[in-house]
Amino acid sequence: MKLEVVVDKLVEYVARKASGLATKHTLEALLGPSTASIMKDRIDRIAMFVTKNKNGALWCRLCSKGPFTKRGFYLHLIRVHPLDIKFMLEEELHEALSMKS
Ligand SMILES: [Zn+2]
Repeated sequence: MKLEVVVDKLVEYVARKASGLATKHTLEALLGPSTASIMKDRIDRIAMFVTKNKNGALWCRLCSKGPFTKRGFYLHLIRVHPLDIKFMLEEELHEALSMKS
């Protein structure tokens, strides 16, 4: 799979994680087991970073909008912030992949 395609799928993965929805694919399926194990904590960190939990509701830390339902936050992330998430993922991927080689 091309890196570009993988990153798009990872954006969806992060948005689902961040909003507490079940993920469609496992990280292992998206990245292969060895890259998945390096990336897991980094991706969890991105998902936690974009989310602000306030009074049991979800808020967006990137633009301070909220509160959202799970589904609403997921849609907000993939519609409004795909490039922000992509950028963070690419940073982490480059770092993780250069560690591997
Ligand atoms: Zn936002």
